[in-house]
Amino acid sequence: MIIIMEPHVTQESSEFKSLLKYLERFPHLKIKVMESKGVTRNVLEIHLIGEDYMVSQEEIESLPGVEKAIKVTTKYRLIGRHGILSDFGFEYKGIQFNQDTFHIFPGLCAVDTYENTEVIFKTLKENNVYCARMGAYKPRTSPYDFQGHGKECLPWLFDLAGKYDIKIIVMEVLAPYHIDEIKEALDLTGHPCGVILQIGTRNAQNFELLKAVGRQKEFPVLYKRGYGLALEESLNAVEYIASEGNTNIIFCLRGVRTHLGDPHRNLVDFAHVPVVKRLTRLPVCIDPSHPIGSRVKAPDGIRDIYHVTAQGVIVGANAVLVEFHPCPEKALCDGPQAIPLNELPLYLEYVHKVRETYLELKNLVNEKSS
Ligand code: PEP
Ligand code: MN
Repeated sequence: MIIIMEPHVTQESSEFKSLLKYLERFPHLKIKVMESKGVTRNVLEIHLIGEDYMVSQEEIESLPGVEKAIKVTTKYRLIGRHGILSDFGFEYKGIQFNQDTFHIFPGLCAVDTYENTEVIFKTLKENNVYCARMGAYKPRTSPYDFQGHGKECLPWLFDLAGKYDIKIIVMEVLAPYHIDEIKEALDLTGHPCGVILQIGTRNAQNFELLKAVGRQKEFPVLYKRGYGLALEESLNAVEYIASEGNTNIIFCLRGVRTHLGDPHRNLVDFAHVPVVKRLTRLPVCIDPSHPIGSRVKAPDGIRDIYHVTAQGVIVGANAVLVEFHPCPEKALCDGPQAIPLNELPLYLEYVHKVRETYLELKNLVNEKSS
């Protein structure tokens, strides 16, 4: 059961304390208190975990300060929407993330040189972009391919981010000790930027890694859907993160693996943006780079990566994670799909136009339909 408190109730309120007292009569139930910044209000919830059939929904709803109580039956109980209107938003480094916000994370697939990293951050700053993607730990198909510079590059990477006012870097972690290495490098450099921990598609069911990013609350998590997993399986995997205590999660769609997507690298699954928004309260990101796998253009002159970005943004994506490189031919990882950095202003203009269109269409539909 999820108990949602009225907007004025905080963890210090007498209503909240007396509800906890009332719940003491069910000692077998685990109680989890969740507080999040919603789109229009702060949300304080109490989750009852365990066999709760003896808890009366009516009685709970009659208690002071309780807005409503919801019996939860689905498997992903913490991240699930369960008909609740408010979102699980969060704020990180002064930036809001929820199902209404929109951010773009352009950057390198893999951090290679200091010079390339600097020119990326400089270009982002010139274009008023304050978030970036940057891979230091790379999962590669062959052990002989470049695996990323790992912890060696973190201090200068974070310093450079600070120099160019990059507030947040999305960075994949492959093992729990990578989280500690990121923490150490941030401490060493005086926290010039924030980090969102990315769980890559290959680790979408690496439950120990999911629990590790869930146990810490310092860094939000960007979870990429498993490329061979049903949506439901990926949502249950995300629940592992939330159930350890960290609900600052962005769900990212990045295409699924099937030859039916050929000649693209994967089959684009962005039709699931509104589905994930309906099933969960998480902000939803799209990664157009990995499902396409190249920077080819359609006969209309527009790159396939642009076209599928539009497909995700027009259905309400809250973020875009996309690969750029100052010199794609020289990239050590995923060069064929990197958009040349000098195209960043054009890409941003394109994406913002699509986003504006989405917002206009959303208003139109909501005004004209009942
Ligand atoms: C990446 O973002 O660089 C990456 C490896 O993505 P994915 O896990 O989606 O393949
Ligand atoms: Mn990549």
